[in-house]
Amino acid sequence: MTLTGGSISVIGAGTMGNGIAHVFAQNGFKVTIVDISLAQLDKAVANISKNLDRQVAKGTLTEEQKKTTLANIHTESNIIEGVKDAALVVEAATENVELKLKIFEQLDTYAPKSAILATNTSSISITKIAAVTNRASKVIGMHFMNPVPVMKLVEIINGYATDKEVTHTIVELSKQLGKVPCVVNDYPGFIANRILMPMINEAIYSLYEGVAGVEEIDTVMKLGMAHPMGPLQLADFVGLDVCLAILKVLHDGFGNPKYAPCPLLINMVAAGKLGVKSGEGFYVYAAGSKELVVSGRFAN
Ligand code: NAD
Repeated sequence: MTLTGGSISVIGAGTMGNGIAHVFAQNGFKVTIVDISLAQLDKAVANISKNLDRQVAKGTLTEEQKKTTLANIHTESNIIEGVKDAALVVEAATENVELKLKIFEQLDTYAPKSAILATNTSSISITKIAAVTNRASKVIGMHFMNPVPVMKLVEIINGYATDKEVTHTIVELSKQLGKVPCVVNDYPGFIANRILMPMINEAIYSLYEGVAGVEEIDTVMKLGMAHPMGPLQLADFVGLDVCLAILKVLHDGFGNPKYAPCPLLINMVAAGKLGVKSGEGFYVYAAGSKELVVSGRFAN
């Protein structure tokens, strides 16, 4: 089974949606980005353009390829219009179960019956999402990593009913995008977040319990474990609200107290300190600044 005709629809123009659209468009696919927010759609195209400029400046893309990539991208705020010609839909809307179930009901109604419906969810059950559609065999997880144009991995998640041919199609498509696919099964957190989030949570607990400061925790993991980024900086990058939501899924899904989110994480999300996207988390992020500055809340 290969993707025949049609285009790619990406639902959600946020951090992940614009990266996913970028990668498909750069590899020659016609892409429609759908979002309920016109401002987010504008921002997504501006972001993609900026990221393409960076690739041109590095010499990894020509000016001509940049133009072709941008010409492959369309935006749409109406989901009916946005998915009507899709061969594949990749949903990358906000990580919220009710929202995703509602979106998949709509996708099942409005996308062509032959279309594969993929979700970029970090942690919500693919099987549960598939169950609200009449095509559970064509529903699959296609979990890209952030930033999408840079990160090679695509974690492909088979739901309970996902057809093997659908998995094969998504594996081959991921390779076509220059990515490395890894197929896993549908249990809470899949593999990436089942292992990453407890590490981030433990780093936050270490800070909360006063074992060490923000810089010390991140430095130990960077220099000691050769991680390119410390877990607290990574949490800021992923979004603290996203980290909290995933930990709740692990906690509920396994019923094991080892996944209980740290109270400090819960407080930071309640205070609107969500990391890079809100300008502050464990670090502060001033527009245009590349310097990593620990938030005053945690400064020694
Ligand atoms: P985000 O908050 O940056 O963007 C979400 C977008 O969804 C927003 O633009 C919002 O307007 C849009 N949206 C909300 N309701 C919608 C609807 N009904 N129809 C269309 N668009 C709608 O979120 P994000 O960080 O890009 O995450 C998106 C998905 O990707 C989530 O499922 C998340 O778990 C997953 N994910 C995130 C990361 C990460 O590092 N941020 C990594 C991997 C996977």
